[in-house]
Amino acid sequence: MSKAKRRVVIVGGGFGGLEAAKALASADVDILLVDRVNYHLFQPLLYQVAMAGLAPSEIASPIRGILAEQKNLRVVLGEVTGVDLAAKRIHITDPGTHGDLVEDYDWLVLAVGARNGYFGHDQWEPYAPGLKTVEDALEIRRRVLVAFERAEKIDDARERKKLLTFVVIGGGPTGVEMSGAVAELARYVLAQDFRSADPRETKVVLIEAGPRILPSFPEDLAASAVEQLAELGVEVMTQSRVVSIDGDGVVLEGEGADDVPGLGSGSGRDRIHAATVLWGAGVRASALTECLDVPRDRQGRVIVGPDCALPDHPDVFAIGDMARFEEKGQVLPGVSPVAMQQGRYVARIIRWEAESDGRPPRSPFSYFDKGSMATIGRSRAIAWARGIKMTGFIAWLAWLFIHIFYLIGFKNRLVVLFNWFWSYLSYKRGARLITSTGWEPTAAKSLACAVPALPPKTEGRTVPGAERAPESARAGGGAPISHPRP
Ligand SMILES: Cc1cc2nc3c(=O)[nH]c(=O)nc-3n(C[C@H](O)[C@H](O)[C@H](O)COP(=O)(O)OP(=O)(O)OC[C@H]3O[C@@H](n4cnc5c(N)ncnc54)[C@H](O)[C@@H]3O)c2cc1C
Repeated sequence: MSKAKRRVVIVGGGFGGLEAAKALASADVDILLVDRVNYHLFQPLLYQVAMAGLAPSEIASPIRGILAEQKNLRVVLGEVTGVDLAAKRIHITDPGTHGDLVEDYDWLVLAVGARNGYFGHDQWEPYAPGLKTVEDALEIRRRVLVAFERAEKIDDARERKKLLTFVVIGGGPTGVEMSGAVAELARYVLAQDFRSADPRETKVVLIEAGPRILPSFPEDLAASAVEQLAELGVEVMTQSRVVSIDGDGVVLEGEGADDVPGLGSGSGRDRIHAATVLWGAGVRASALTECLDVPRDRQGRVIVGPDCALPDHPDVFAIGDMARFEEKGQVLPGVSPVAMQQGRYVARIIRWEAESDGRPPRSPFSYFDKGSMATIGRSRAIAWARGIKMTGFIAWLAWLFIHIFYLIGFKNRLVVLFNWFWSYLSYKRGARLITSTGWEPTAAKSLACAVPALPPKTEGRTVPGAERAPESARAGGGAPISHPRP
């Protein structure tokens, strides 16, 4: 009788999960890739969707399509809501009507990424959406465009000022990109189309609690970013901590609050009246991490060892944004190269172990940092790669080239390149649609953690005829369906 192939379950088809799956293409294993959405999302270009530069389909690709040629892999659409580390099983909640699934694994790769984090103030999310998903981007686009539309109709100067004030919270790369993009949209794109409300009256304020923006970049590059933002009309406030966000704007604590000309008049010096507030200040690990009974850090990230595995569970890896990996005393940043390199690294381990008897020693993961960049707008960016610093147009060209290069799908690359070229020449944005997205806050959403309850496995296989998981612990409907291995 031929030996049953061992099974790898990968949860998440983002940067880390997809890279792990691809790197196992020729390995002698069966792979199951589970994601709650059916597409891989290129998050670095999400802000372009939020600012009406690109459509969602141009930065997302169906996972099945990407992996169609990979014969040793099956894709399942569903949300993983539980992991039984002792029994080596996962529980998948089916978003359709087909009941839940329970799948067993020999190796598990968790790559579920991160979500918006509000430092314990999840009540702020409805007033200040962050940018993590397609739904977030469409909601931000809707809010920004609706603010301009309302300003066009309103006579009350104070109310119009509020509608044309945009606050972006968080001076990291996402906040910098968003604030530059709103300012650019208002000044150059919408300015041509509105009659009574002049989008050039728009005020964009970028608020950062720390002493400077872009703390992960060298100081001179961050200073250049401030200058480039100022050219677009963005006011950068540092040392300013947001203490409240509501439908009227934000309330600040900190010395910078007094110094913003033209803001805060009316109901107290610390308030910035703004109809649109956007969040780019924090993230935390995806909700599934809360269902794992393993040590986590303050951002909810699972603490992994030098081989990216969970402590005491060498067959379970956590990679990318959901994991806290420390190298030489530094925690690796939540960026796509970390997730991709970790994906390839764990695939190498799995392939090696699948081909060996027993478990050969593992060499630790080591991150190769290729550099960082942040774009500020058309022809404006900063980049820092292995000691080389770039600013302005050159940095922007480098940013453009790298993002096109890593974007998945030949058609997407062409369409994005064409769209950018068109808006560069014409100052027009094709995706300026106000659509109803059915957006709902997700930061506070936790999973109804499920216990993958099944009878004991026989010789490493799942026995068909699953027990129902306790109803209270399950997010979905019917009894779980088990998938016995061949
Ligand atoms: C606006 C923005 C801009 C960024 N810009 C850059 C940049 O310029 N450069 C850069 O390097 N990085 C950038 N990043 C960060 C980068 O996108 C992340 O570091 C990277 O996506 C992390 O990869 P990952 O595989 O860990 O998670 P993700 O790519 O987020 O993938 C996680 C996947 O898991 C799925 N999932 C989550 N929970 C479950 C569950 N319970 N069950 C099933 N599936 C689940 C999700 O649907 C998703 O497909 C940016 C991020 C954002 C949000």
